[in-house]
Amino acid sequence: MKRKSHMNWSWIIIVSFFLLSIIDFRFGIFGFVCMGTPIYHALRGRGKIHCSHYCPRGSFLGRFLGKISLNNNMPKWMRSKFAKHLLLGIMIILLTISLIHAKGDFNKIAFALFRFMGVSFVVGIMMGVIFKKRSWCTICPMGHATSLIKKHQDSKKKSELVHLK
Ligand code: SF4
Repeated sequence: MKRKSHMNWSWIIIVSFFLLSIIDFRFGIFGFVCMGTPIYHALRGRGKIHCSHYCPRGSFLGRFLGKISLNNNMPKWMRSKFAKHLLLGIMIILLTISLIHAKGDFNKIAFALFRFMGVSFVVGIMMGVIFKKRSWCTICPMGHATSLIKKHQDSKKKSELVHLK
């Protein structure tokens, strides 16, 4: 089934998320949706469809950084598998520590997610200004996680086909 891309407007979602979370940080809890959606699509076998069709963050970077981006290429080491694994690992560890510290307290969890989303958004914008506008997407932990899921699913399918032959 051919899906419609929503990348031309989905930036409104992330801007609304930050505006609402600044007014009341408890809206930060919706950070779970932002992190969970790409993984949900990947687990349903849709690969990186979130990145190409829906992602509010990718939509924002693509839409607003074009005019101010210095358009430099990212250094090779930043595009390496090691850098992507490292950032994904750091994200998982930091998020886990924050959630453990929150001890189930809704406000603390929401604030931790808001902070997490905010920091990664600022880093993404800085990268988009220094390098190409969507450079963040090259190292984005969620984008990388979906790639890993897709690779795993593809290799599973391949080995099932080999067994059937
Ligand atoms: S790589 Fe990350 S920021 Fe970029 S489109 Fe995918 S999920 Fe969004």
